[in-house]
Amino acid sequence: MDILFDCPHCGQELEVDSDAAGTELNCPTCNQRLVVPSLDSPGVRVSGAAPPPPLHHAREAHVINPIAASAAAKEEKHFQVPIRDKPSESLISKPLKPLEFAAKDSEKHIRVKTIRRIDCVEVGRDKFDEHVSEFLAKVGEQNIISINTVTYTYIDIGSQKLLTDFGVLIVYKG
Ligand SMILES: [Zn+2]
Repeated sequence: MDILFDCPHCGQELEVDSDAAGTELNCPTCNQRLVVPSLDSPGVRVSGAAPPPPLHHAREAHVINPIAASAAAKEEKHFQVPIRDKPSESLISKPLKPLEFAAKDSEKHIRVKTIRRIDCVEVGRDKFDEHVSEFLAKVGEQNIISINTVTYTYIDIGSQKLLTDFGVLIVYKG
């Protein structure tokens, strides 16, 4: 078998048959005289065994890398497909809905509607209850915050007297 060692003069890696250990020869690179070391000398590698480490590594790298690469590729594909599908779905179904609700809620303002009874009197007929009921139905029960009674005074055109009347003040969201 061959042994590998570095030239002690120039560091050139040399490969010599292990049978030549102890013999002198000239380094082909620096042309200096050197003694072929024995196999158990420090820094001496077996030529047949020395290549395997790199080869082994290379082989492992070649074997592992395709597997790792294909596995990674498979995983990537597995990940990419659901990830691409789900966000688009969830973007539409999930985040948007709360946003819509939030937008609707934020768009709503607290408003006040005052309905005076006098304004609901048409041709002598009191339509106050009807008007208030209509308004409440329009606003929707869930948007009504409070209903307060109010009294007010007005000058009756006919009698020119101050009259007191009532109405409602509705606080609602809309
Ligand atoms: Zn040399």
